[in-house]
Amino acid sequence: EANIHLSVRVARLGSRYVLLLAEDRTESFRLDSVRRDFVANISHELKTPIGAVSLLAEALDDASDDPDQVRRFALRLSEEASRLARITQDIIELSRLQATDALGNAVLLSAHKIVKAAVDQNRVAAEARGIEIALRGDKKAEIMGDEKLLVTAVDNLISNAIQYSPDDSRIGIGVRDVDGVVEIAVTDQGEGIPEEDLDRVFERFFRVDQARSRNTGGTGLGLSIVKHAVQNHGGEVRVWSQPGRGSTFTIRLPEAAVIRPPIGENP
Ligand code: ADP
Repeated sequence: EANIHLSVRVARLGSRYVLLLAEDRTESFRLDSVRRDFVANISHELKTPIGAVSLLAEALDDASDDPDQVRRFALRLSEEASRLARITQDIIELSRLQATDALGNAVLLSAHKIVKAAVDQNRVAAEARGIEIALRGDKKAEIMGDEKLLVTAVDNLISNAIQYSPDDSRIGIGVRDVDGVVEIAVTDQGEGIPEEDLDRVFERFFRVDQARSRNTGGTGLGLSIVKHAVQNHGGEVRVWSQPGRGSTFTIRLPEAAVIRPPIGENP
């Protein structure tokens, strides 16, 4: 049984009656607790890079007569700074997405163009590892939405696919329109995700392998951002995966229902 939180107020009405006002505050309690967890998680995630920065600063000071050491520590310092920048950026993006449900400035967009833009952002990283990205499917599918947000969502799925795949493998991206739902599916031949973790990968800061994700520069927020961005568009994201064989992440968005003027008539 779930806990229910009620706030109750009592007011006396004359000498014979009392007025009882009960308000169901369960949802607001739940949101408060989600917020508290998020803040606790953030503090935990920031502790490691901040600790590293202070240690490296001390080490740099101690190593001042050894130019090779200085160079090595300076490089590590700059890596930790980039990691802090990435975490901060993802936290800001996620908080922004959680604060709003609806999209204020949705415009008509081509799903294919969104995916193409996200693929272009990942070309260099894929080529560096010999990974081929193949994009196919419906070029006409249209959705209503925020272009930047949707490109970010697809970009996160592609960069994960690269991150968790072996060199010289292949990533397939398909776009299709099925019964009013536009599907963007990103399939990799990577390590896959254990079944017991499938439900959890969209949680903030959840990683299948904590150490590995941190070492490779992951923030643990990418899939949370994808989930919220897609939900803000009235859509959902699904995952299918088989350890050792690969994963498919599918973004599903409602097709844009556009009322076009009949041919020959001016709009
Ligand atoms: P991260 O920054 O750690 O990649 P994400 O929120 O993007 O954070 O992903 C959460 C976790 O889900 C990752 O740490 C990884 O364990 C797993 N994951 C995400 N995408 C894939 C994928 N394509 N293949 C295998 N595992 C994945």
